[in-house]
Amino acid sequence: MFRILKKSVKTGVVTGQYPEARPAAQPVAPEAIEKAKPFRRSLTIREVDTGSCNACEMEMNALANPVYDVERFGIHVAASPRHADALVVTGPVTVNMERALKDVYKTTPDPKVVIALGDCAINCGMFAGSYAVTGPVDRHLPVDVRIPGCPPRPAEILKALAELRQDTRPTKG
Ligand code: SF4
Repeated sequence: MFRILKKSVKTGVVTGQYPEARPAAQPVAPEAIEKAKPFRRSLTIREVDTGSCNACEMEMNALANPVYDVERFGIHVAASPRHADALVVTGPVTVNMERALKDVYKTTPDPKVVIALGDCAINCGMFAGSYAVTGPVDRHLPVDVRIPGCPPRPAEILKALAELRQDTRPTKG
């Protein structure tokens, strides 16, 4: 037991040492910040994948791990759009997912915020011109926040969400 204790003391804290977020290509618009006012203390997200390669989801999922621990900022992920305040959409909008995306948007109660996560959601990224793609998210829904990257780092997602909610707490542990 003492051996383990000694090792723990010697090792120190190893969590919270994640890479810095790169500077945002475009800041969150004041209109989006105004729209997100009711969600400053608590924000529930529903993630919608409209045809991504899944890397954006993996970065989004990483926010829930002990390193980023997004719940400490009052940000939760809902299983149903009916319980969501914000939709985080990843991937270009494919033919198969267009209808589902619109249904999810209609089902999410107002007021709501739409976040396009990753280059594909913003401008179709590497899937631009594909016969299976109907366009970026803003062709179908009003997008409030754009988080670029392929994929964006979790620290960048966290930074954009903090900016949206005007949360000035440090995001690094
Ligand atoms: S932006 Fe990049 S990582 Fe995200 S879905 Fe598109 S190809 Fe994948």
